[in-house]
Parts: sequence; structure tokens; C-alpha cells
Amino acid sequence: MARVLAERHLASGHTAWVAMSEIVDGDMAVSDLKTREKSIQEASLSLVEHNAGLAIPSSQHWSFLTQIHGSKNIEVKENESVLGLEGDALFTTQERKVLTIQVADCVPIALVSDSGAIAAIHAGWKGLLNGVIENTSEVLQDKSPGDQAAVIGPHIGPCCYEYGRKDLDSFIEAFGASVVGVTDSSTDSLDLMAIVRVILEKRGIEIEYRDGSCTSCDSKFWSYRSNGTQKRQSLLAWIEKN
Ligand SMILES: [Zn+2]
Repeated sequence: MARVLAERHLASGHTAWVAMSEIVDGDMAVSDLKTREKSIQEASLSLVEHNAGLAIPSSQHWSFLTQIHGSKNIEVKENESVLGLEGDALFTTQERKVLTIQVADCVPIALVSDSGAIAAIHAGWKGLLNGVIENTSEVLQDKSPGDQAAVIGPHIGPCCYEYGRKDLDSFIEAFGASVVGVTDSSTDSLDLMAIVRVILEKRGIEIEYRDGSCTSCDSKFWSYRSNGTQKRQSLLAWIEKN
């Protein structure tokens, strides 16, 4: 069942909600251009059906992207939704606009600004190298200056994300040696969370909550790395006026 990862009360008088779907909530992938709107509606209905206690705004308030592992962020403005524009982060200062990010191993992140704004970020290895977190944090700071906090959803762990030593070099160069992890079979791996931690620390962003599940180890989640699935779980993030 979808879980609330964080419910954060903001100085602006808003509450920020961050939730994460699981396999049982249905496929949240929105990869087919023609059926996107329909699939987001179905996803929303299935999520609401499985999560009676969680007051998720309905699908007409959902936004989603065509995620391309870049660093572009897109604002969700008043009376608008973003339906499949290319980018890897959404942000808004509007209430009850649900920002969604679809993942199956990449790191889903919500950034919450104390002054009443929220962002949702799709961060895989490429996006992390491309500066998707830094760019989004900056634009959020411009739009809504104040302290930021991060909420991190489930993603692939170093236990399952084997990487050749040579391929790790660019990450070590950019983020330091802490990004090198170890798999369950004692080979080198990439630790995506270590990268996220380095970036957030540099920007002085505290981690409000982190889901430590590995999407490949934990059968509650879809994992592209473990079986090449096209199905996705979704992070959902929105703010409401108290
Ligand atoms: Zn694992």
C-alpha cells in the first residue's frame, strides 16, 4: 500500500505531503504517449482505492513528465497541470497540485521549502551527474526563499547496483570516494544515496525522511535492474493550506 513518507508542517502555514506507491497500488508508468492521460487517471483511481485513509487529490490535479535523465525542471502553475513535458523535476507553489515522479530503481526525491513550495525530482545516475538536484533546489530557492528539506523514496541500493571500477571514476571525481559501495556478492557498486547525501550536504539541505528499501531486494517495488520491467512506482508530493 502507498505510504506517507513525510507530512511536514511549513512556516508558510502549509502542510507538505510526500507519499510513495508500491506494486500493490498498480502500475504508475505513463510511458505510452497516447494513453498517458488515461493511465494517470487509472493510476490515481487505483491508488485512491487501495489507500482509503490517504486524501490524495484526484488525477486532474496530477502532473507528470517524460523523464529523460536530464536536469530540467518545470513549474506547475495556477490552474495548470503538466502532462508529459520533457524534464526530470517538477515544482510548484500552488496548493493541491500533485507532483509525480515515476521510478523503478532511480531515486525519487521531494524537496520541500519552508516558505510554501515543493519539488519532485527524478534522480538516476545520469541526472545526478547532470545536476538535477542542484538545479531544482536553486529554482525553488529563487521562487520561494527559505530552508529546504528533502524526502527520499525507495531506490536501488549498493547491494544490487554493480558497477565496474572504471565506470565509477567519474562519480568519484564528482562526488568523492563515498559513492563506491559493495554488492551482496562483494563486487564494487554505485551508491546512489551516497551521491544524494553529498549534494544535499553541500547545499545545507536536511534529510527529513529517507526510505531505506532497495527496489531490487524488496519485492514490494518494481526494479528495472533486476528484471527489465517497464512498470513503475510513483512518488507523489503536494502542499495543502492548513
Ligand atoms: Zn538490493
